[in-house]
Amino acid sequence: MEGLQGKNVLVTGGSSGIGQAIAVRFGQEGANVAINYIGRMEDARKTEEMIHAVHNCADHIRDMGGKVTLIQADVSKEEDVVRMVRSTIDELGGLDILINNAGIQVSKPSHELDMASFDRVLNVNMRGAFMCAREAIKHFLATNRQGVIINVSSVHQIIPKPKYVGYSASKGAMQNMTRTLALEYAGHGIRVNAVGPGATVTPINRAWIDDPMKSEMVTSHIPLGRAGTAEEMAAAVAFLCSNEACYITGQTLFVDGGLTLYGDFRTAWSSE
Ligand code: NAP
Repeated sequence: MEGLQGKNVLVTGGSSGIGQAIAVRFGQEGANVAINYIGRMEDARKTEEMIHAVHNCADHIRDMGGKVTLIQADVSKEEDVVRMVRSTIDELGGLDILINNAGIQVSKPSHELDMASFDRVLNVNMRGAFMCAREAIKHFLATNRQGVIINVSSVHQIIPKPKYVGYSASKGAMQNMTRTLALEYAGHGIRVNAVGPGATVTPINRAWIDDPMKSEMVTSHIPLGRAGTAEEMAAAVAFLCSNEACYITGQTLFVDGGLTLYGDFRTAWSSE
């Protein structure tokens, strides 16, 4: 995709699922990639190996010397975020694209939810994404570069999610953070967008992926009749970071097989 070759990209939560696919996709596009992980270095190494495998199949990328680096950091901790962005800049020689992908969820009836769990979800998904964006923007401004930020949000940015109040609140907040930062820094040529995945086959969804009955129930709600793949989410992220999307800012691109079309309205039951 035009405009990604040689760019320096930081992907948070790049050791699993959608983040892993995004990191690999940028590797494929000839970008230099910093893979953030929190605890499982061996999984981050797997992402790195996948990128090297892609490089080995593409002489032009190998010849460009596409760099890959691993950076341990908890995005909910300010000192970790500052260190992570600084290490990315030092090791790759700058930062052009930030992908705020790290995310967690906790399931509990809202009236039983303890504040530590609620805070943890907000701290990783929303506060963490903001701190990463703040550090990236400081660098974009200091180096006068037209950087790009992508926030990996969710269909639950707009669809309520009972028993996941922290998660849906964090993703709802992400929408206004995306729009606010996009407006605030548009004058500097910095673009901020979000991708809103629908149900996607990744470890976060182990509970239904491994259960045929639950899987069937999930897909029955999706107009296109199947869950998405991490690679399909990565394709949308790559597009929004590319030159093809240079006039798009402040938007959320839902990649959801039509989930946000409210499939229960396929037939006009509400009017009959
Ligand atoms: P996943 O496979 O569980 O991956 C989440 C990643 O975030 C992991 O690499 C995890 O690291 C990392 N992470 C968690 N807490 C972190 C922290 N404090 N600091 C740094 N990294 C941290 O889930 P996924 O499905 O790929 O989700 C990725 C993003 O997509 C999330 O923001 C999620 O909300 C969003 N999303 C997913 C779906 C879906 O259906 N899968 C739908 C909508 C939106 P560890 O593995 O080491 O914990």
